[in-house]
Amino acid sequence: MAQINYRTHLGMNDILPDETGKWQALEQLIHREAKKFNLEEIRTPIMEQTELIVRGVGQLTDIVSKEIFSFSRGDDNYVLRPECTAPVARAFTEHHLEQRGGTQKLYYIGPMFRAERPQKGRLRQFHQFGVEIMGSDDPVADVECIAFMMHIYEKVGITNTKLKINSIGDPESRDKYKEALVSYFEPVRNELSELSQKRLDKNPLRILDSKEEEDQPFIEQAPLIHDYLNEESAGHFNKVKEYLNQLGIDYETDPYLVRGLDYYTRTAFELISPDLGSQDALAGGGRYDLLVEEIGGPETPAVGFAAGIERLLIACDELDIELGEPKSVDVYIVTLGDSARTWGVQALPKLRAAGASATMDYMGRSMKAQMKDANRENALYTIIVGDHELEANSFTFRDMRKSEEEALSFEEILQKVK
Ligand code: AMP
Repeated sequence: MAQINYRTHLGMNDILPDETGKWQALEQLIHREAKKFNLEEIRTPIMEQTELIVRGVGQLTDIVSKEIFSFSRGDDNYVLRPECTAPVARAFTEHHLEQRGGTQKLYYIGPMFRAERPQKGRLRQFHQFGVEIMGSDDPVADVECIAFMMHIYEKVGITNTKLKINSIGDPESRDKYKEALVSYFEPVRNELSELSQKRLDKNPLRILDSKEEEDQPFIEQAPLIHDYLNEESAGHFNKVKEYLNQLGIDYETDPYLVRGLDYYTRTAFELISPDLGSQDALAGGGRYDLLVEEIGGPETPAVGFAAGIERLLIACDELDIELGEPKSVDVYIVTLGDSARTWGVQALPKLRAAGASATMDYMGRSMKAQMKDANRENALYTIIVGDHELEANSFTFRDMRKSEEEALSFEEILQKVK
């Protein structure tokens, strides 16, 4: 028979048992800290309608034009979600979440899918946590969003980060700015990279994002958005900066930080880590005051961010930050003989009911092999059980770390593990 080698798809990783501990620790930290910020979790399906993602993320983005995993079944077109802002905006609209009253302060954790060329820190299935604050155009919402993002990295211990912020204005300011960019770039069109020439026609703001060398001298001299912000947008941006200053959150204003879509508005931000190499963006976000309307919902100013979990974990590795506890079990029952095994099977639920984690050998191994296994499992205590112990209701309770033993009844053991 031909040998079959099944593997994961390119850029899609298994998260193995030795790694899930840190994932769980991070997820628990996010849930716990989100509560402090009065954020509520939202979970949306992994698949969405293609049309939602095309509209909500934008036809002209790399994500939609090149990186979407899509398929159809009958008349329905599905995509694996490449991000979660459009899905959350869809859920908000579909379920009329505005009717709950007030501002909806939402967060999510989950897998996203983009058919990118995989490399370190760039996967095809990756995970994000993120926040969407919907129904407020107050700069407080922008700053709370940024503060939560910073707070998570700080709690994890990643403090060597750089926050970049910018304002891309409202559509009115941006239209004027776009005109200025077009007038500026048009005379040098032929000297720009091919990609930038395309963007000049479709989405001139994105030229500022260009990494192509030939574009750089032109970008450096390009008009700046700040000179085109109307009073309201400039005022909003100033407030955001003022609150960040008051909170002692360091930032750098980066006039080239843009989000190239029309429904992104005003605040844009990105968090960079020098510990990440070429894929150095930990998280990014901004305001999207027009997105909900764009996908058919009510007028809903909103702001959010998305953060890459794999990149956060890479930064932890670089910084020797250990998330989660090493694997261990409180009690390992070592059994000798059939009656002891029968007793062990019944003792496990009692130990667990008392609050301990508990396990025993499933392989009928020798006492020596079971003790070895208890060590491998990093058991804190072992209970050694044979016919003699059962008769006397007196068991050897061994503290594995101290290598100390005492003889205890099962009731005394239950008291101890409580
Ligand atoms: P974006 O949704 O593109 O603004 O990305 C937000 C964050 O998600 C980035 O800063 C990265 O940390 C992470 N991210 C985006 N794309 C990928 C990917 N393909 N693989 C791993 N992480 C990613």
